[in-house]
Amino acid sequence: MTTVHSTDPTRTAPPPTADPVIELVQLARSFPGPPPVDALHPTDLTVRQGDYLAVTGPSGSGKSTLLNLLGLLDRPTSGIYRFCGTDLRDVDEAGRTALRGRRIGFVFQSFHLVPHRTTVENVALAQLYVTSTRRERRERRGVAESVLRRVGLAHRLDALPTTLSGGERQRVAVARALVNAPDLLLCDEPTGNLDSGTAGTVLDLIDELHGDGVTVIVITHDPGVAARASRRVAILDGRISHRQDTAHGRDT
Ligand code: ADP
Ligand code: MG
Repeated sequence: MTTVHSTDPTRTAPPPTADPVIELVQLARSFPGPPPVDALHPTDLTVRQGDYLAVTGPSGSGKSTLLNLLGLLDRPTSGIYRFCGTDLRDVDEAGRTALRGRRIGFVFQSFHLVPHRTTVENVALAQLYVTSTRRERRERRGVAESVLRRVGLAHRLDALPTTLSGGERQRVAVARALVNAPDLLLCDEPTGNLDSGTAGTVLDLIDELHGDGVTVIVITHDPGVAARASRRVAILDGRISHRQDTAHGRDT
């Protein structure tokens, strides 16, 4: 495996001793077909707490396959996936659902907000899926408000998604992803539906969250977004074929 060093002083690398959030050992996914497709060839990858990784590659390179595996939406054909030290081969479906709800925050290209619920309700609702956190309704609202303040939407709490701009919608989605304090923020083409200016502000926000210690993986077909967003970039082509450190910060 390639060793990755950060050459960018503006982006802090996690210490090599930071706990791994993700460890893939020869993880692979094939689809039986016909015709059979090796969508993800055996892949090794370690992502540590505080890391910020972008995965990029052209259409058909396995990005969605990898995302679905990382997000516990799909199972590998072979290999090992350890999430926060737990070997997922030992976890049943209920356990996977619990991990997905409590420890992974998802941000999608198309926002996936509930249209007839306000901003604060959309964020508060996400706490209901976490069965181990039995927050009172008022407490849920309080937590949702504080996360929305963090993403710069304190003034839009009671707005409906249809009245928000694309960038605001995506910030609501980011707030919703963060509300259960996940170990990992998994972003699938987070700027795919945004114009480039708005995309920049969403990437700035993700950057800021990373600065606060959130572990982030951004999946994008856009190499420009990958380089701008992350501290290190993995290039996918059925396997991770190349890694590079982003040697420049957001200002260059
Ligand atoms: P990307 O997201 O980078 O465009 P995908 O992960 O969607 O790539 O696809 C990788 C390869 O796996 C492609 O050749 C695709 O056709 C194939 N593939 C993806 N999902 C399935 C599936 N459910 N059944 C069969 N083949 C699939
Ligand atoms: Mg895809």
